Amino acid sequence: MFDIVQNISILKSQLPQSVKLVAVSKTKPVSDILKAYNTGQRCFGENRVQEIISKKDHLPSDIEWHLIGHLQSNKVKSIVSFISMIESVDSFRLLQVINSEAQKAGRKIDCLLQIYIASEETKYGFTIQELKKELESGVLNDMHNISICGVMGMATCSTDTVKIEHEFRTLREYFLFLKDTFFKADNKFREISMGMSGDYELAVKEGSTMVRIGSLIFGER
Ligand SMILES: *Cc1c(COP(=O)(O)O)cnc(C)c1O
Repeated sequence: MFDIVQNISILKSQLPQSVKLVAVSKTKPVSDILKAYNTGQRCFGENRVQEIISKKDHLPSDIEWHLIGHLQSNKVKSIVSFISMIESVDSFRLLQVINSEAQKAGRKIDCLLQIYIASEETKYGFTIQELKKELESGVLNDMHNISICGVMGMATCSTDTVKIEHEFRTLREYFLFLKDTFFKADNKFREISMGMSGDYELAVKEGSTMVRIGSLIFGER
């Protein structure tokens, strides 16, 4: 039996104060989330819209929900009223939809740009070339209902730590490039969301500001 309370306390004692813990609760029941909540954890990550919606009404309203999985444009409407951050923005078409739904809801939504860093075909995300091209075109200028808060990425699922380290370092370099080129005066652009149960220590070493950890807290899925 996994001890959620103990797992969180161990993790918190290991993470630098400056690194935010997103507790990834996908597939886990509301009762598990409550156990984590009662330790003081407020930020939870889910990868499916339907799942967040069905859980959130049974949980305290001061939970900060982060969407960390691929989001379809037609589902934006159903989360825009409460979502705290969308970490998995992987197209400007999606960003436009988030912006316009946020406007209708009278909100401004924090987003991360998901960047592709792994050597796996299945992972979503922008390439840095795509991002550069889009951002140069001024696509963000008219989007007043979103804040771009930084970048998110997933390393290759591998035991090759040199490779993973290299991917995290690359994501940090992309972050610094984007910050310097497009977000210099923007204080909100400051997050590098990288690191999961298997690789968060490497990610923290490489400059992560936000780790997304599921199985180390809640047990295997
Ligand atoms: C599931 C998931 C995580 C957490 O994975 P663990 O290995 O259980 O820590 C982190 N990020 C994303 C995008 C995920 O889908």
